[in-house]
Amino acid sequence: MASAPFELKGKSVYVAGHRGMVGAALARRLAREDVKLVTVERRDVDLCNQAAVFDWFARVRPQVVFLAAAKVGGIFANNTLRAEFIYDNIAIAANVIHAAHLNRAEKLMFLGSSCIYPKLAPQPLREDTVLTGPLEPTNEPYAIAKIAGIKMAEAYRGQYGSDFISVMPTNLYGPGDNYHPELSHVVAALIRRFHEAKLSGAKNVVVWGTGTPRREFLYVDDMADACVHLMKTYSGADLINIGTGEDIAIAEFAHVVAEIVGYRGEISFDSSRPDGTPRKLLDVSRLDKLGWRATTSLHDGLKKAYAAYQAATIVPAQ
Ligand code: GDP
Repeated sequence: MASAPFELKGKSVYVAGHRGMVGAALARRLAREDVKLVTVERRDVDLCNQAAVFDWFARVRPQVVFLAAAKVGGIFANNTLRAEFIYDNIAIAANVIHAAHLNRAEKLMFLGSSCIYPKLAPQPLREDTVLTGPLEPTNEPYAIAKIAGIKMAEAYRGQYGSDFISVMPTNLYGPGDNYHPELSHVVAALIRRFHEAKLSGAKNVVVWGTGTPRREFLYVDDMADACVHLMKTYSGADLINIGTGEDIAIAEFAHVVAEIVGYRGEISFDSSRPDGTPRKLLDVSRLDKLGWRATTSLHDGLKKAYAAYQAATIVPAQ
């Protein structure tokens, strides 16, 4: 992988999606860089609104853009809010990437997702397997929108020479996650379910699906660190996967979460819920060659995530 030094120092850096889990982690990480961090609230600029985005970009003209804004959710949200997931994510990608182009941003990073790879692509998933086969149906609308964003970045690079790059994170978790019981991803869902079962003394906790799918989990602050590293060192049309290179079966994962939360009851599986894709372990050899590796173990990351969940859910005494 070609590395191309890019100076962040002194630049105005826009994090799109700074209220989300990933954008907030990026803002935390960028606070350690000598940059001018730029953010804007959704009530002021709705990223699905082309005119609002174009107007804001023309006024603010950020030099660097991390496009971490997206409508996201777990397997149930992806599978039921299919129209919203495709529309919002295509609109956000189209508006922000085109506005960055119109206003001559020096560099843009588009954040995709590991669900862009074909459902049955060989594991671990190499970046060059994108668009080689059918997608996992439960998150196809989201994946198509993310593929549109990747292809936009690639097309603007090809036609205009824009320094737009795309990275594909694996399943992320950490502070600021969405803990909605139905709409969340598996990590947040299980932290909450085991925690509530521990408090109520429930004897059984239900985990969705068969427990056999395998997933790779990356702590969100590691993700942010990888993004800043790649922004500074990588330039190219090729996608870069961001993950740990290790995965775990959902059944085993559920036991790890239960142990960290301190839930000692039974765990059962509801196979009427979808499993989704059987496995999506990322091949991280490109990332490795570019000089970055995850440092937070799953155990440590889950402990931090659980602490953040508890801190966020404690009701202050009256
Ligand atoms: P995915 O990687 O896009 O499938 O995202 P999820 O994080 O939503 O789901 C990962 C895996 O965890 C799937 O096989 C789910 O069926 C399984 N899973 C088990 N329990 C839960 C739960 O309570 N919520 C969610 N979202 N997934 C769960």
